[in-house]
Amino acid sequence: MASSMSPTTTKRKGPLENNNQNKSKKSHWSAALSDALDDESVRLYRDDLCTVIRDKFPKARIHLLVMPNEHITDLKCVNDTHLPLLKHMLKVGKEIAEKTAAKENAKGSFAQFRYGYHAIPSLALLHMHVISQDFISTSLKTKKHWNSFTTSYFLDASDVIDDLQANHAIRVDVARMKKLLDNELQCHECPHTFPTMPKLKQHLMTHIY
Ligand code: AMP
Ligand code: ZN
Repeated sequence: MASSMSPTTTKRKGPLENNNQNKSKKSHWSAALSDALDDESVRLYRDDLCTVIRDKFPKARIHLLVMPNEHITDLKCVNDTHLPLLKHMLKVGKEIAEKTAAKENAKGSFAQFRYGYHAIPSLALLHMHVISQDFISTSLKTKKHWNSFTTSYFLDASDVIDDLQANHAIRVDVARMKKLLDNELQCHECPHTFPTMPKLKQHLMTHIY
């Protein structure tokens, strides 16, 4: 069943979100994914356990979100009972990524994916990112965007599953993670670093083949 979460009334602004991203009058921006979960028009896939949608502000050519149908706020709420669900979400994410890449005739880095979670998510509904490794997108604008997908701020879904299996909970070092968002801009494919996002984005084109 889809989430029945009520929109939160908190005014907190997540670390990666833009104040203007959710202009819907229906609910506060932080409930955007709950709304999307229930919106059949944006759905790529749904089964008994999870739903896949396209990220509304994609940071790469293919950027999808896999969400559980049951309301789980974030990784802090996850326990041993959720292991089958997280494994299922990863399996589904891989399948839908491959299908989407094939449909879009994606090659090279457009067809290479990472699957994972932001250590400190902006939106209050557990979601696993499925993101192609080209990072070609007009929505990829800031250093925080870049570092959230290319440093260890991005928690690989398989590591999260291993961590949960070993420790029965997911613990995040919030201070260390926040610092990662301010790292210098380093290419994810080579050692080059860049003073600005436009320069980094120009360089990314050299890795497209
Ligand atoms: P995060 O919470 O940092 O893991 O990321 C939240 C993701 O949700 C970002 O990649 C946003 O671009 C994306 N997003 C924000 N609002 C929506 C929406 N209404 N539908 C789909 N994706 C969204
Ligand atoms: Zn490079």
